[in-house]
Formats: sequence, structure tokens, C-alpha cells
Amino acid sequence: MRQRVKKFFLLRRERIGIRLRYGRQRRFFRCPACRFPQSVPIGRGQSKLVCPHCGEIFLRRT
Ligand SMILES: [Zn+2]
Repeated sequence: MRQRVKKFFLLRRERIGIRLRYGRQRRFFRCPACRFPQSVPIGRGQSKLVCPHCGEIFLRRT
């Protein structure tokens, strides 16, 4: 049980670290069709995104 909790926190810290590292230049979106998360560079205005998982095309403002 303790091991699992420890692992959970470690995983969470890793995720936060990634967000801190890329948080300014990248934004995270989820595909509306399959919920597959993907990161997109910020500052392009409205951009067309293609989901690498299912091929869904959707528009997002970054
Ligand atoms: Zn998708």
C-alpha cells in the first residue's frame, strides 16, 4: 500500500515537472473524439490539430 502511494506521488511530481518545463510554450489539449492528450506549441493563434491517435481534425486557439 505504501509503495503504491509513493509511486503515485512520484508520478504526479513527474507530471508537474513536465508541465513546468513546457507550461509556457506548450498547451495540453484532449482530442474530442478519443480523449487522447496532446501538447501543442502556444502562440500560433487558431490552429488546426490532427489527433495522432484517431486522425480527428479539430480547431483550437493557442
Ligand atoms: Zn483522437
